[in-house]
Amino acid sequence: PVYLDCSATTPVEPSAAAVAAKFTEKDYGNAASPVHDYGLFARTAADHARKLVGQPAGAGADSVVFTGGATESNNLAILGLAEEGTRTGRRHIITTAIEHKSVLEPAAAMERFGFRVDHLPAGADGRFDVNRLAELLRPDTLLVSTMHVNNETGIIQPLKETAEVLAGHEAYWHVDSAQGYGKEFTMLTDGRIDMISVSGHKIYAPKGIGALIMRRRDGRFPPLMPLMYGGGQEQGLRPGTLPVQLIAAFGEAAKLAMRDGESRRQKCIEYRRAVLSVLGELGAQQNGDERLCMPHTVNFSLKGIKAETAVRALKSVIAVSGTSACTSHNPMPSYVLGAMGLSAERVECSLRFSWCHMTPDADWERVKDIIRKLRSGI
Ligand code: PLP
Repeated sequence: PVYLDCSATTPVEPSAAAVAAKFTEKDYGNAASPVHDYGLFARTAADHARKLVGQPAGAGADSVVFTGGATESNNLAILGLAEEGTRTGRRHIITTAIEHKSVLEPAAAMERFGFRVDHLPAGADGRFDVNRLAELLRPDTLLVSTMHVNNETGIIQPLKETAEVLAGHEAYWHVDSAQGYGKEFTMLTDGRIDMISVSGHKIYAPKGIGALIMRRRDGRFPPLMPLMYGGGQEQGLRPGTLPVQLIAAFGEAAKLAMRDGESRRQKCIEYRRAVLSVLGELGAQQNGDERLCMPHTVNFSLKGIKAETAVRALKSVIAVSGTSACTSHNPMPSYVLGAMGLSAERVECSLRFSWCHMTPDADWERVKDIIRKLRSGI
């Protein structure tokens, strides 16, 4: 079957896999022991990768804290401000109703420690409602955490508008860019964002590596406390021996994202044409505003066909998901689509197709056949 679940994770670029193999099999030194060549090669590779990983976000190497992935970066950005909030009495957090669980859950955990969390609602277009942000902001708002691109719908979020509302306010602004980093560059260089979460396995690097990219404000990075203590690596924010093989592969993937961004984008746009034409023939309803969508994702509903049924029936032709990967072991209806105001029935019948520049053509005639048969109950 053709893999159409690139928003869950992408295939690994061969050159990124080769870099990972090199630092696994040959240059396996510890980056913290540059006293010999093994350690020195590892340190040099990690330093180089740090520079490359910062670039798609417009950030320098010293802004990059490597983590195990965007989940960890989100947790660090949110829980990491607990001490500062407690010390200063700023105990208010604003996030959105359509965030990934790795933002919603640490925010909820902060409530147990006396913080208050407000959620911006979302509209049918798939964007969080930035107009409500000004109303919710308070003098004691410590953190605003919003996503860049939604993982279920592919809808690009109103970051520019958010920056305008936040201008002049003290609140730290964290952006979960797991789905945008390395693909949609323009917003990340915005001077108002304080922290950006990114993930390697969404941009063709192996799984288990990500970063929190930070910006200095008045000469200081956001006052995060570490979630773990140990050897002081990563500016004391993420101690532990650096996984150099993953870091170097992530650097390679970031380099390719910068170099090939435009040609990848064009390939995705072409692929989308084929997908949308098939969906049009099947009478699918697209979820979220198509004009705001990334070119490699489409979320849609097939009236009368439950997502679970469609995923199973299509499995031998295309590999797709009915919901986000992180919640698909627990098939609850999508809270993202629910927050956009879609009916429960439409949510239940929603599928996500997501592809990339490497995705081969699928047998769309068979896809159409299978859906038509499901519809006529054969
Ligand atoms: N945030 C968003 C928007 C995501 O799509 C994902 C991945 O599914 C994550 C965070 C978590 O990323 P990771 O798998 O790197 O922990």
